[in-house]
Amino acid sequence: MEKSMAIRNIREIGDPILNKVSKEVKEVSERTKELIDDMFDTMYEADGVGLAAPQVGILKRIVVIDVTGEDPLLLINPVILETSGEQRGNEGCLSVPGKIGIVTRPNYVKVRAYNEKMEAFEVEGTELLARALCHEIEHLDGHLYVEKVEGELMNLSDLSEEEE
Ligand code: ZN
Repeated sequence: MEKSMAIRNIREIGDPILNKVSKEVKEVSERTKELIDDMFDTMYEADGVGLAAPQVGILKRIVVIDVTGEDPLLLINPVILETSGEQRGNEGCLSVPGKIGIVTRPNYVKVRAYNEKMEAFEVEGTELLARALCHEIEHLDGHLYVEKVEGELMNLSDLSEEEE
């Protein structure tokens, strides 16, 4: 059976739901599976590398990430176990459209999470994946990267003009 795409509306900065703490997932119901599928569809459609459930208005501790476009990663109830190193670079967010800012993050992160069958697993990431893991997990506690931006939040359009 062919599955149809379902794109959900992405909540934007200023929407109070983005500042709320999401609840732990106890079981993956059919409804939760549908949410997860929709989150992947919504992330890919928006050309994002990650999306957290509160960004589509659902306060559940669910994150999807894909930093290469070929490695879909689902994290349920993710917890950061370890971090090391440091990276400083540009960061953006689907909930803060058209903006970009410099954020310092760990360069290595180890996370424990659960998959769709509620089996625990660990994932390690460096560079962009480490950044995405930190960014998305913070969404689950109601935090946006703009709180951590060093200097000014920049317009993506200004940035591309400068490069031309
Ligand atoms: Zn974000």
